[in-house]
Amino acid sequence: VYILGIESSCDETAAAVVKNGREVLSNIISSQIVIHRKFGGVVPEIASRKHIENIMPVIDEALSQAGVGMEQIDAVAVTYGPGLVGALLVGLSAAKALAWATDKPLIGVNHLEGHVFANFLADSELKPPFMALVVSGGHTALLKVTGYNSFELLGQTRDDAAGEAFDKIARVMGLPYPGGPEIERLALGGNDHAIDFPVARLDKPYEFSFSGLKSAVINYLHNQQQAGREVNRSDVAASFQRAVVDALVKEAVHAMQHTGYNKIVLAGGVSANKTLQNTLAQAMQGIGAQLVHPTPILCTDNAVMIACRGYFMYQGGSFSPLDLNANPSLKLG
Ligand code: ATP
Ligand code: MG
Ligand code: FE
Repeated sequence: VYILGIESSCDETAAAVVKNGREVLSNIISSQIVIHRKFGGVVPEIASRKHIENIMPVIDEALSQAGVGMEQIDAVAVTYGPGLVGALLVGLSAAKALAWATDKPLIGVNHLEGHVFANFLADSELKPPFMALVVSGGHTALLKVTGYNSFELLGQTRDDAAGEAFDKIARVMGLPYPGGPEIERLALGGNDHAIDFPVARLDKPYEFSFSGLKSAVINYLHNQQQAGREVNRSDVAASFQRAVVDALVKEAVHAMQHTGYNKIVLAGGVSANKTLQNTLAQAMQGIGAQLVHPTPILCTDNAVMIACRGYFMYQGGSFSPLDLNANPSLKLG
């Protein structure tokens, strides 16, 4: 089964061909990062316009690199939410037009489920049930993957997402967008116990909150500056990163112990963070569980994950009507 995947929910225009949900035949990603960097974040109107320019060339390139014609494609899978509505509509419209013109089924994919399914490309043995820790630019959640097409949300962030926290702190520190990789790099030379940034303690399990941490870092920087004290930027980055990672790992361990699951996957852009990967892997080892995470290129937005998710929906007979609309606030679970 050959699935063409299309993704345009934020600032990556992407298309990919995946065979049987596990074999990547092509993976084309046209990133707009350098364009949005000037503005310190994604500008929705510019993103939509760039997607329009790029979508057809990116799809053509994905098919040609895969050496597959539309006649061999079994279904067109496309992100229909969550994301920026104008951005989503570009990929969705292209997918609908292509599906209609070539008489192929359309499969609307939840972008976050896509992030989770990037792990099927990393672990050929992966099968449900397993836990997913979703840590992306817009979402932070613990999700039970109870079957290939069934999910149960355990809990999520009450305010900022993990990636959002990285991006905001980076911005305050004058680092370019996206902030996650920048903070990670800066943290490499720092002492992660130099500053004790508090993380909110929540009464409900499996929930997260990063807005207090964000304020604590901003206040620290401000106070140091007011007092004319030198700031060790690497220490700040490392201590902040440790606080985020500790909060994520603590709830993940809790979720694994509670459910008795023995496998957890990381999903979303923050999955690329090595400190998170290593700390979580170690914690999982301590409780006899295993961590799986996508390869770096499949951690952030791509269309391989959409094609992979589409494959399992195809197997489950889950198709979408051609009047499918974009859903910018599509939920998990
Ligand atoms: P969503 O998937 O929730 O719709 P998104 O698609 O915008 O959001 P992703 O592409 O999944 O987000 O991930 C981008 C986020 O990942 C950004 O916030 C970025 O800073 C963060 N990120 C990327 N690499 C790293 C890293 N190495 N360490 C920490 N954060 C990272
Ligand atoms: Mg992006
Ligand atoms: Fe994403």
